[in-house]
Amino acid sequence: MTVLTCASTGKSITLLGEPKISGEAKVWQTNHNGYLAKIYHSQTPEHVQKLAVMIAHRPKEPNSHLNHISFAWPKSVLKDAQGDCVGFLMPEIKQAKELIDVYNPSKRKALKLDVDWRFLHTTALNIASIIEAIHISGYVLGDIKQQNILVNDRALPSIIDTDSFQVRNPKNSKVYRCLVGSEGYTPPELIDKDFASTDQTEVHDRFRLAVIIYELLFGGDKPFAGEWKGSGENPELNERIRRGLWLYAPNSLIQPVARTIPFEIVHPEVQRCFLRCFNDGYKNSNLRPTAGDWVKALRLAVNELTICGKVDSHYYSRTHGKCYWCDRAIKLGIDIFPGFIGITSSSNTATSSSIKPTQSQVSQLAAATPETQALVIQPSVTSTIRTTSSSVQHTQSQFSQSETFKVLSIWIALVWCCIILLLITLCVVSVVSSKFDWFLAGIMGIGCCWRFYRWFWRVS
Ligand SMILES: [Zn+2]
Repeated sequence: MTVLTCASTGKSITLLGEPKISGEAKVWQTNHNGYLAKIYHSQTPEHVQKLAVMIAHRPKEPNSHLNHISFAWPKSVLKDAQGDCVGFLMPEIKQAKELIDVYNPSKRKALKLDVDWRFLHTTALNIASIIEAIHISGYVLGDIKQQNILVNDRALPSIIDTDSFQVRNPKNSKVYRCLVGSEGYTPPELIDKDFASTDQTEVHDRFRLAVIIYELLFGGDKPFAGEWKGSGENPELNERIRRGLWLYAPNSLIQPVARTIPFEIVHPEVQRCFLRCFNDGYKNSNLRPTAGDWVKALRLAVNELTICGKVDSHYYSRTHGKCYWCDRAIKLGIDIFPGFIGITSSSNTATSSSIKPTQSQVSQLAAATPETQALVIQPSVTSTIRTTSSSVQHTQSQFSQSETFKVLSIWIALVWCCIILLLITLCVVSVVSSKFDWFLAGIMGIGCCWRFYRWFWRVS
């Protein structure tokens, strides 16, 4: 059993269980509930200095009001018995899935996740919002990829592996570079560059963010994947990115295939962002939309989503005018958002009306939420990342808990009213009969009842 010392608190941290091993470190459970320990295989002075800067200059958590961890930021350095830094303590992101599990239809099906297109839009919006907050603090994420983003059942993402970020020490401007990158997410100007000697900017992250958003909205497809129409072999992914060959480039040699989700079904403002990133931004990387631009565009897109009249898990953009998912199911025999059919039949009016306010609530929330805040999907209100098999049980359980609570509350309120009435009567009688010790007892009783009342509602 390995015991380390938390540098910020001086407390002992015990490493528990079997670690998850990555290229440069092992990640352990710890005896400190809610925290993991990342221990480097071999730490360097660079690691230690970079961690010190990160711990001293933590970006503002944009979703603290939602009690959410938007990024697993290093909390404290961990030291061994010799007092050497061996790694760091970071918050554990619980009950969340990798991004690919929610945007890839096959993975969703295998995991029985009930995720709709609105959930994916909301996730995209929230990722952009978190990345905007990180950029404002002067960090560059560097290795944005689906494996480094987890998402929970409220469509709230958490970015992990934050110690790979590019960090700039605000005191002396020393840059600790991001040494890793991932194929498919690396912008054309960085392909084949040596990351160890390349300073990055948030402009590079803008490309990676656009790829992630594209994957979320287009069923996991990459913008650079399609049917090759040029001569010779279809170039490798990195070569296509380097040459700016994506589906909607002018005269592109990559063309959509039958199962490609059409570009025009997303909101025009979102389309514009993709075109700016992969067309205009190919020639001039500064023209790529910022994370903030994506937040604005996706907020408009979420506001324009509406539920299909035939399948309760189909959302489409009013700007497109019809449900593409229904058309796709007929044309290809594939429904990537399968749900329950028959909402609009007259016998199901109640079901329909029970879902439509949910859509309305989400639109109102999107409109009312300040641009810097994340949009939340409430899992208890609508379908999100719940497993299909357990969703009914979950709903029933919530319903029965709610009913029990209601009955209990009514009984407690009745008993409480009776006691208050008795105590008031006691006070009145004691004043009339000049028994002031009874009066004091009555007043104290009322005080106790009031305290109990406040405690009960706070707890419940
Ligand atoms: Zn539909």
